Amino acid sequence: MHKIAVAKGDGIGPEIMDAVLTIFNAANVPIQYEIVDMGKWVFDKGYSNGMTAEAQETIETLGILFKGPMETPKGKGVKSINVTARKTWNTYANKRTFQTLHGVDTVFSKAGIPIDITIVRENIEDTYGGIEHMLTHDVALCRRFITKPGSYQVIKYAFEMAKKKGARRITCGHKSNIMKITDGLFLEVFYEVAKEYPELNSDDVIVDDLCMKLVTKPDLFDVVVLTNLQGDIVSDLCAGLVGGLGFAPSANIGDHISIFEAVHGTAPDIMGKNIANPTALLLSGIGMLRHLGLMETAAIIENALLYTLESGIHTGDFGDKSIPSVNTTTFAEAIISNFGKEPANNPKPILENKYVTPTIFKLKSNPMLETKSDLEEVIVGIDFFIESNEQPTEVANKSLKHTMDIVKLVTISNRGTQVWPRGSVFTNLVDQYRCRFESIGDVPLTQVEILELTKGMMKDFKVCSYEMLNMFGGKKAYSLAQGQ
Ligand code: NAD
Repeated sequence: MHKIAVAKGDGIGPEIMDAVLTIFNAANVPIQYEIVDMGKWVFDKGYSNGMTAEAQETIETLGILFKGPMETPKGKGVKSINVTARKTWNTYANKRTFQTLHGVDTVFSKAGIPIDITIVRENIEDTYGGIEHMLTHDVALCRRFITKPGSYQVIKYAFEMAKKKGARRITCGHKSNIMKITDGLFLEVFYEVAKEYPELNSDDVIVDDLCMKLVTKPDLFDVVVLTNLQGDIVSDLCAGLVGGLGFAPSANIGDHISIFEAVHGTAPDIMGKNIANPTALLLSGIGMLRHLGLMETAAIIENALLYTLESGIHTGDFGDKSIPSVNTTTFAEAIISNFGKEPANNPKPILENKYVTPTIFKLKSNPMLETKSDLEEVIVGIDFFIESNEQPTEVANKSLKHTMDIVKLVTISNRGTQVWPRGSVFTNLVDQYRCRFESIGDVPLTQVEILELTKGMMKDFKVCSYEMLNMFGGKKAYSLAQGQ
């Protein structure tokens, strides 16, 4: 008997969770549930991360959390309980499956174009670190971290899953034509991992092109893996292809703890009315059953759900308006009464292990520190981000005073566009420049030499921030300014 933690959540959470657990109980799902205290209501009691210490301990012991939607407390500085949970437990892969469901009308279902897309989104890194600063009154900065081990974990998971699923294609969505270093790293790791799976058809698409192709020819895609922000947007786009967030299950997969939840929120406008649609949470629960290896029970419940949708039974938020809608409880009862029936049109769930979420790939003892490189690493310069509302030539003249025998001022840019030594009068400027100093002939610089330079620049400017310019194995590990 498996034991899992269940958090019913806020808003419609308890209503849809009760409906799903009623269906599970009717199907004799061999799982024991331990209800844990988590959500906005727990936050309101003074628990700043939205869960009690007992809840955290239970989830960490049991390893699986099945959760309803949770309200994000309003107010500056308050982090989302959902995001905190994903990050705290390093659920690095967000997997969402999107399938055509008969009974849920979309332009594609009407056109007879089948959709079966799985989006795997990196769940921890990228701009979601939330590391943001105002550099000047007018200029905000968000740091974007893409790491090799972080990318490896999620991409490896996506390939394992694609292999078990027998995927037709696995595609990396990215923007490495612009973000050559960050997205470039993600793409490089993708093709490194792809070498381990020669039997899979792997390729990549630039994310804007991917969006266009997803809405014109969604049947071209099978498994798509993306970085966090791009994956966030593309997964909601895919939810739209199959009928909206009410039909979008989600699994947050980690090495030790995995979270299964619906993608939609707490729907405060309809809470307490017993009219919410439990389909997304049920689909997430079915994914959880498969994750636990309960293939047959998952198939019985999924078949009954698909049969119910196909027969036209629907809650008020979707379906044929000429057929009266039913409430949450009746919808759940209809599914239970359809146990043992198989849908005619909807894809029949497969009982084989093909769709099992793979055994999680465990990196060795200390995964995030393991990626070591033998490449020589030297500092060859520094980018100063300074506050100034002077003309670029004035900024340059002041900066040039601080050049040393071994260091030269190479370029000054504003919002990433070069404005010195060459620029255009048509470039709009904000009050924050980047002044780049590089060593002459790429001679390695010591941090003490960098400090001397920094002291000099600080005499003339407010330095808001700086970044070292590194060379790894003789290659520049930083991007050029636009026009440099
Ligand atoms: P929402 O998804 O709660 O609601 C958007 C619209 O969709 C509403 O009209 C709602 O009635 C409808 N809707 C959503 N789920 C439905 C369902 N199952 N059946 C029928 N109709 C449904 O989005 P929101 O209003 O932006 O967010 C409300 C709260 O939920 C916020 O506090 C937000 O932070 C939180 N939220 C939580 C999660 C999560 O727990 N993973 C995800 C998104 C939003």
